[in-house]
Amino acid sequence: MDPTSQTDTDSEEEASDADDSETEEETDSDTDEDTDSEIDTDDELAVYRKIYGATDIYKDGDYVVIEMEGIPDHGSPYYDGSEWQDRYEENDERSFNQNPNVIQSVDRTVRIPLYPTEATDHQATALGTMGVALNGVAFFNQYAGPNNQPLTNEIYSFDQYNGHPQSSGVYHYHLEPNYLTEQESIGQDGLLGFLLDGFPVYGPMENNVAVTNDDLDDYHGHSHETEDYPDGIYHYHITAEDPYINGNGYYGTPGTSTQ
Ligand SMILES: [Zn+2]
Ligand SMILES: [Zn+2]
Repeated sequence: MDPTSQTDTDSEEEASDADDSETEEETDSDTDEDTDSEIDTDDELAVYRKIYGATDIYKDGDYVVIEMEGIPDHGSPYYDGSEWQDRYEENDERSFNQNPNVIQSVDRTVRIPLYPTEATDHQATALGTMGVALNGVAFFNQYAGPNNQPLTNEIYSFDQYNGHPQSSGVYHYHLEPNYLTEQESIGQDGLLGFLLDGFPVYGPMENNVAVTNDDLDDYHGHSHETEDYPDGIYHYHITAEDPYINGNGYYGTPGTSTQ
């Protein structure tokens, strides 16, 4: 375990990309935590440790805190001075329209409910980080900008791994993170990450069949058991069709993402 719990004391905390100021996180749990319960804690967090791109993962009351820098562990033409531009053009059939942004490392802290439950109000996802992929890259929703602008044109600025950076350098996926789904250990039916409400996100295949929007509810998920959750859980699926990751808002109550 890394003893340096780095708190950036100097940084006046900037609001996250589009953070509808989520207020008071209730700290009701008088934490008698840790020490004696090391093993239980580890078990509870085991599934979150699959987020291999995180710089730190720990429990805080009823939340899991995930810290990350948000930079992809794969090539991209959006890395400054990258040689991947050529490779992209060789390999891709789309006409690529690179945006002017460059990938930047951005320290981010995401807090998600450890015991997610269905919300009664199903809040809409905001622009900006709505979840975390296993490699520590952000998931963004199906819109390119305010007023539900579709991704129609933005799609052409996605790199060979379906990601791109926004203006402050935050790299993100709106679609299937195919760098992950191409990994044998993950695959197209594997766990790909979590949304801020704590519910997991799975890939576009299930039992060797492509998942379509028709298989999913308004929020783009459904419930059944998975390898990681043998007792069953609600989970989102990434599909090939709009809205791709999330549909009409969070199934549960979202935690926070701050940078
Ligand atoms: Zn984007
Ligand atoms: Zn499923």
